[in-house]
Amino acid sequence: MERLQKVIAHAGIASRRKAEELILEGRVKVNGTVVKELGTKVTGSDDVEVNGVKIESEKKVYHLLYKPRSVISAVTDDKGRKTVVDLFPLVEERIFPVGRLDYDTTGVLLLTNDGDFANKMTHPRYKIDKTYVAKVKGVLKREDIRTLEKGVMLEDGKTAPALVSVISSDAKLDKTIVAITIHEGKNRQVRRMFEAVGHPVQKLKREQFAFLTAIGLNAGESRELTAHEVKQLR
Ligand code: URA
Repeated sequence: MERLQKVIAHAGIASRRKAEELILEGRVKVNGTVVKELGTKVTGSDDVEVNGVKIESEKKVYHLLYKPRSVISAVTDDKGRKTVVDLFPLVEERIFPVGRLDYDTTGVLLLTNDGDFANKMTHPRYKIDKTYVAKVKGVLKREDIRTLEKGVMLEDGKTAPALVSVISSDAKLDKTIVAITIHEGKNRQVRRMFEAVGHPVQKLKREQFAFLTAIGLNAGESRELTAHEVKQLR
């Protein structure tokens, strides 16, 4: 959802101020009806007309990035850190990340300019599976695994059931490599879940988002989703 004047301005028709004037003058229609309210919000699926001419919305694009470490999952950063959008210098559409991976988390991250799609991908109701591989401190005990699987009590509530499988553990090196599949997206969820059972995460990668992986990409590289993949996700 974006404010009407912003949508008009972004379409290159007028400045934000001029767009407000056009709205107040009754020269803007949304889905065929004149709208004079400056606070009106529209989505990509609303028809917006200015002076009787329909605004062409930006072509919808969908990218899969293998996010490297030390990059922030945002469009801009007030601390001047590199953002995931900076990794797409040739993309002209106004893309943004679908959800977030922590600064030091690597792996599959989608970017799009399709707000409805992004909402759907991140809304808990759609229960999209995300699989992470974590390197954690210590050797996980059976009961730790059971706790993680059943749900861990965090500050913001109990986590939903998860799938957990140990890939390898090494008592001498005091570490375990473990895969965990969750469908929620609480902030820093995986790190907090392992922390809660006394095994802090030292390294975290998102291996899979729904059926998508970063296989074939190096960290920092991306590819566009195929039309078929987008359709399957919707
Ligand atoms: N869980 C985390 O703790 N961090 C991420 O980046 C993603 C999921």
